[in-house]
Amino acid sequence: MRIGHGYDVHRMVPGRACVLCGVEVPSEAGPLGHSDADVAAHALMDALLGAAALGDIGRYFPDTDQRFRGVSSMELLRRVTRLLAERGYALGNADVTIVVSRPKLSPYIQRMRQTLADNMGVPIDRVSVKATTEEGLGFTDGPGIAAHAVALLTETPRIKNL
Ligand code: MG
Repeated sequence: MRIGHGYDVHRMVPGRACVLCGVEVPSEAGPLGHSDADVAAHALMDALLGAAALGDIGRYFPDTDQRFRGVSSMELLRRVTRLLAERGYALGNADVTIVVSRPKLSPYIQRMRQTLADNMGVPIDRVSVKATTEEGLGFTDGPGIAAHAVALLTETPRIKNL
């Protein structure tokens, strides 16, 4: 088993779509970024890549690459999942925490779990999504949104030195 951690932050900008874990949440503001800026999916992908010691999403999907402008992070998540599968890794489970005071996310959590699970090809019970706030004390109460993720991968034993 291998464990990985991911963390990401984006600025919240009025008029931007707010896509979190692949689900568009009605909101006056959304995360700014090169792709769809799905901060939660980005943290999750960094956790998955971190567990495999394969770097981070900036290495595979650089924001200087025009091919990734406006791209759905669910497309990137499917690519990361394939990359891991090619190396013999499968998802044990993942746990994502989104930190933001607005919009309220509780009505969308189940859809977020299902969307992530579908894009990683696993049952929903392997994927947790939670939301919390900084109780008026932090940047996620104003201009920002943050996400943390941990992921556990299982590794198929490989025959070495052949
Ligand atoms: Mg990001």
